[in-house]
Amino acid sequence: MLNIILMGPPGAGKGTIAKKIVDAFELPHISTGDMFREAISQGTPLGLQAKAIIEAGNLVPDELTIELVKERLLKDDCASGYLLDGFPRTIPQAEALKALGPSIGRPVNLVVDITVPDEELLSRIAGRRVCPKCGASFHVVNMKPRLDGICDRCGSTLIQRKDDNADSFKVRLENYYKSTQPLVDFYKAEGLYHHFDGMVGHIALFEEVSKLLKESK
Ligand code: AMP
Repeated sequence: MLNIILMGPPGAGKGTIAKKIVDAFELPHISTGDMFREAISQGTPLGLQAKAIIEAGNLVPDELTIELVKERLLKDDCASGYLLDGFPRTIPQAEALKALGPSIGRPVNLVVDITVPDEELLSRIAGRRVCPKCGASFHVVNMKPRLDGICDRCGSTLIQRKDDNADSFKVRLENYYKSTQPLVDFYKAEGLYHHFDGMVGHIALFEEVSKLLKESK
């Protein structure tokens, strides 16, 4: 069973590798960032609460985020594995998941952490363009779409995320170091932690991560 957490700082390449993993291993992709962006574009009460917080680069409160993930993990498609992308991001979220997972027969059994030096993160974030429809991610220099400004996967017009600016990035990175990095020790203590270097390029990275997932299946 693959019940996976994918973690790493903003711009490390989580979304790109997540898409490859879920396609190859046929897992539901649970991205809390995507779920919040969807709620914002639909104008739901959750979206209205989260919009300003996310655009400024801050973390959505734990209670809201935990509830969202709880509802999602209970759905039938998570019975034979899942990939959590961007959750947990705080110790209280990790504690909540540690209590929830086993109680619903879906405990996390693997944590994949991808790291990249700070300078590289900023250039990845500044050049990132995303598809608002299918969530695919590109870069104006490193990972150009076949047609300028158009999504390779679904043909929609690419956009720049509102939180992919220098000010919000700074806040996101600070939040990562303060709130999310402590999860490394948390998951090392659980014996679930696996580190990967995000500088090797997305093809090599996917090969390395796939190897671990095949061995863990
Ligand atoms: P991401 O797409 O993973 O970069 O997430 C975008 C934004 O959504 C983050 O900067 C946060 O504002 C919010 N968000 C996503 N996941 C979480 C989480 N687990 N806890 C709190 N906020 C989150």
